[in-house]
Amino acid sequence: MQTRVARLHARRDLRVETLDYAGPGPGDVLLAMASGGICGSDLHYYQDGGFGPVQVREPIIAGHEASGYVEALGEGVSGLAPGQLVAINPSQPCGECQYCRIGQPIHCLHMRFMGSAMRLPHENGMFRQKLVVPAIQCHPVGTGVTPAEAACAEPLAVCLHAVAQAGDLSGKAVLVTGAGPIGLLTVAAARHAGAASIVVTDLMDAALSRAPSMGATQTINVASNQDALLPFQDNKGSFDVIFDCSAAAPALRSAFAAIRPRGTIVQVGVTGDVTIPLNALVAKEIVWRGSQRFHSEFAQAVDLISTRQIDVRPIISHTFPLERAVEAFEQAGDRSAACKVQITF
Ligand code: ZN
Repeated sequence: MQTRVARLHARRDLRVETLDYAGPGPGDVLLAMASGGICGSDLHYYQDGGFGPVQVREPIIAGHEASGYVEALGEGVSGLAPGQLVAINPSQPCGECQYCRIGQPIHCLHMRFMGSAMRLPHENGMFRQKLVVPAIQCHPVGTGVTPAEAACAEPLAVCLHAVAQAGDLSGKAVLVTGAGPIGLLTVAAARHAGAASIVVTDLMDAALSRAPSMGATQTINVASNQDALLPFQDNKGSFDVIFDCSAAAPALRSAFAAIRPRGTIVQVGVTGDVTIPLNALVAKEIVWRGSQRFHSEFAQAVDLISTRQIDVRPIISHTFPLERAVEAFEQAGDRSAACKVQITF
C-alpha cells in the first residue's frame, strides 16, 4: 500500500512524495490522517536544517501535532472503532529505562518522539495521508470538535505541563512572554488554572491580537512600547508567575526584573546560551524552572479540547492541503500573518 507524505530531505528541500507502508500489526491502528499543525521545531528543520545539536541528517517525515480517523484496527485492539476521530500522542517512551521506571517518561533515555531528528535513524512524523501507530497513542476526541482542533492537543499538552510546573495559579498575577501558538495556549492553560490576571508581551501586534480571545487581560507590544513593563517592576516586582515562551534575552531580562520575590519563572521557550541577571535570581530568591514536552497532560489536553473548556480555534490561522506543504511551511515562517499553520490530508 502507498501513501503521500511530506518529507524533508534537507534545509528548504521539502518534497511531497509517495512511499510504501505496511498495514497495522498487532496492537496497531491504521489512520487516515486529517489535520496536522506545523510546530516551531518543524519550521527550524525546514528553514535551518535543525537547531543546536538536533540536525536533519537523513530524509524525515515532519510533523508531531496531528489528528486522524481510525480506518482499520490491528489484531487485539479494543476501545477504538473505524471512523473515530483521534488525536495522536507523538511521545513513545521505552517504559523500561531508569527514568521510565521512576515515573519520568519525559526523560526516557530511549525516547522515540515522532517527527524528531534528535536520534538516528530519525523518527518519522505525521505529515502523511496514512499512518500506522500503536493504538495506545490514539486518544479519541469528542464528536463536537473539528480535526483541526484535535491537532492542537499536542501543543496544548506542552502548555498544560508548563502550567503544572508553576504550582497553584488560582488568583495569581501571570506574565506570558511571546504570543506565538505556545504562548497563546499557555495563556489559555493559565486562565483555565485560575490565574487572576494574564499580561502577554510580544514584538508583533498581529500575534498579540489573538491573545484576548485566549484569556489575556492585557497585551503589551514591547517593540513599540518598551516602557510599558516598567510599572510591573515596582516594589521588587509584580508577577507571581512568568512563563517565558520567547527564549529572547531581552524578554528574560525584563522577566527577572518584573517577577516578585520568590516568584516562579517557567522556561518554556528554548534557545542556545543566554545571559541572565544572577544577582536578581539570588536576591529575589527566584525559582527558574525548565519545562519540556508532557506526559499525562496529553489526555488532559484532549479532554479540554473535546469539551471546549479550552477553545483553540483562535490560534489556527492558515490551512493548506498536503500537496501544498511547501507553501504551508513558507506561510508558517511569516509571523506577521501566521499563528498556527495546519496541513490537511
Ligand atoms: Zn525509557
